[in-house]
Amino acid sequence: MSLKKKVGMIKSYATSIVSRGLTNKKTDKFTKQLRVLSCFGNEHYGGELPPCEHLERSKVKHDKFYCGGCGCGDRKATWLMSDGEEYSKLDYPKVACPLKMPGFSTYIESDEDSSDDIPTRKSYIENMSDDDIKLISVSILEMPDDVKERLNKKEEKTPITKKEVEDKD
Ligand code: SF4
Repeated sequence: MSLKKKVGMIKSYATSIVSRGLTNKKTDKFTKQLRVLSCFGNEHYGGELPPCEHLERSKVKHDKFYCGGCGCGDRKATWLMSDGEEYSKLDYPKVACPLKMPGFSTYIESDEDSSDDIPTRKSYIENMSDDDIKLISVSILEMPDDVKERLNKKEEKTPITKKEVEDKD
């Protein structure tokens, strides 16, 4: 990892920690729902949005996921969604996403002037209705069992990481 990336990562982490404060402040539910969509997609809810390419299943705890794109690793503090009221990475009032996806403090709107007609994951979320976004569960305990099961099945098929590809070669 380059020094520039490392410094950026430390800065992002420090910003998140400060935003949490001493009282464990959390972002609002709608923002977290946008973040959950950005990371997990909505295929497990019967939608068309696949999970983010950087979503990784935890090797420490099978039902937890972390972002493989920001370099902060696989540990409790970096798991994106937790059980019930437990604090998770997507709860921070300020949290960065390397792809600048909706809901994150680094969010940048997709380019409306783009001549590309193929919707991106970002533009798909930007065009969703608020009512559909509000259906998204923001904790693992809150998810209905069938939704949880679909998410688990989906991720079992796709968690191939860069390292696994390198190891195969
Ligand atoms: S890159 Fe962004 S959207 Fe993708 S898993 Fe990481 S934080 Fe989530």
